[in-house]
Amino acid sequence: MTRSVLDALDAHAAARPDALALDGVSYAQLRDASLRVAARLRDAGLRPGDRLAVYAENRPGFVYAYLGGLRAGAVVVTVNVLYRSSDLQHILTDATPTVVAVSEASAQFVSAQDGRAIVQLADVERWAHDDAIAPLAGAPAPQPDDGAILIYTSGTTGRSKGALLTHGNLGAIADALVEAWRWTASDTLLLSLPLFHVHGLGAGLNGTLVAGARVLLRERFEAQPVVASLAAGEATMFFGVPTMYVRILEQAAPGVRFDRVRLFVSGSAALPASVHEEFARRFGVSILERYGSTEFGFALSNRYEGPRHAGTVGFPLPKVEVRLGDPATAADVAPGEAGEILVHGPNVFKAYWRNDAATGAAFAHDAQGRRWYKSGDLATFDPERGYTINGRLKELVISGGFNVYPIEVEDELLRIPGIRAAAVIGQPDPARGEIPVAFVETGEGFDAERALATLRERLASFKVPKHLYLIDALPRNAMGKVEKPRLRELLTARVPGRLS
Ligand code: AMP
Repeated sequence: MTRSVLDALDAHAAARPDALALDGVSYAQLRDASLRVAARLRDAGLRPGDRLAVYAENRPGFVYAYLGGLRAGAVVVTVNVLYRSSDLQHILTDATPTVVAVSEASAQFVSAQDGRAIVQLADVERWAHDDAIAPLAGAPAPQPDDGAILIYTSGTTGRSKGALLTHGNLGAIADALVEAWRWTASDTLLLSLPLFHVHGLGAGLNGTLVAGARVLLRERFEAQPVVASLAAGEATMFFGVPTMYVRILEQAAPGVRFDRVRLFVSGSAALPASVHEEFARRFGVSILERYGSTEFGFALSNRYEGPRHAGTVGFPLPKVEVRLGDPATAADVAPGEAGEILVHGPNVFKAYWRNDAATGAAFAHDAQGRRWYKSGDLATFDPERGYTINGRLKELVISGGFNVYPIEVEDELLRIPGIRAAAVIGQPDPARGEIPVAFVETGEGFDAERALATLRERLASFKVPKHLYLIDALPRNAMGKVEKPRLRELLTARVPGRLS
């Protein structure tokens, strides 16, 4: 059976107490920190089964609060630190945490009230290393089916839902990545992804703890220091979202090498094929792309031993099953056809928090009664190359009866010199239902007519955007993902940049 992340931490602390886990903090120190913080969180009123919200930037205190909360038997709710009023209130009202851990910066947005205490991360960081605090003793170890974390989905459509992942889920998610990516105790991960998201927490931090490896935690992604650190050989692994790779390509000086980094991973959004190819050309590195989501952590990954084809996300991770289903019936699609990604495995979340209707709607059941999570993402499968993600079902553009997959068009746009970023959406059209249009971030001397002429040579005519809207900066969420609903609002408000 899969070990929990806490079991893994304890095992490494016992076997290799002095090995470094988190920057300069050893495994034994991290275990002790989690038990001291758990004791103090109990004093603050946190009971087993309660929720502990962590609303803060990446820093050691985040990790201590998270592990301390798990030790205390609580469900840890990680809150996007950029959230303000309505998003934040929604989460606090829905999750009803007994304790909220805040930083100096986020404290002003949350107040204590009846049944809700506030703790400061600066205090958590002091407790973590205070020998005078008696560690929490006698707390029963959480069971695999007990809730561990509650992460609210990005919420780009409607009210965000809290996905409840169990201790078993977290262990299974980390185990699969450790195995697939050959993660060992001699690895060091440079992590600048936010810990409030499953990419930073479920892959970056938990994977490190299960592997017995080390993580170098950065408060945020900044291209220059990341390039310097990787070029200096401080880490063997780097995990990022596509926009981080774009920035690294922009910022790395000619001749920079990342020779000690054995693995670069990209996910959370489609890695443009052009970025994959340029990274390989400049640094001799083939970025490994994986596909995941809050609800199941990760499901697909390029093979470690390769080949890693640009634009593909590879094959199912160990113990994870994936199939492509008809979006309406969940019946398998014919080989080679596009279908909705359905996921089954020990990694798949338990339920949406206090939302049985949403949980019910999120799953399809097969003839054996097994539940498959309906991801809402479209893909195709090729036995040689693995899966290719076509984008969100909701974002598919259907123009005159033809399917236009935005990712394919965006990939072609990004191959055109002068286009830095691109997003394709459907614009309502009386004749064709929808027409594809593109929002593009462009540089000096961009020639829209030439760009469209190039696209007409490379794409079927129904896929070529009918308009290119120039925009200074695409709206993006904290993970760097383009917020397409906001682009649709721009269209209806008729305030897009310049229509070319
Ligand atoms: P989140 O729950 O915030 O992690 O978002 C999950 C969604 O991100 C998925 O349902 C996909 O739409 C998208 N996503 C994640 N990884 C990839 C990838 N490698 N390629 C394309 N889309 C991705």
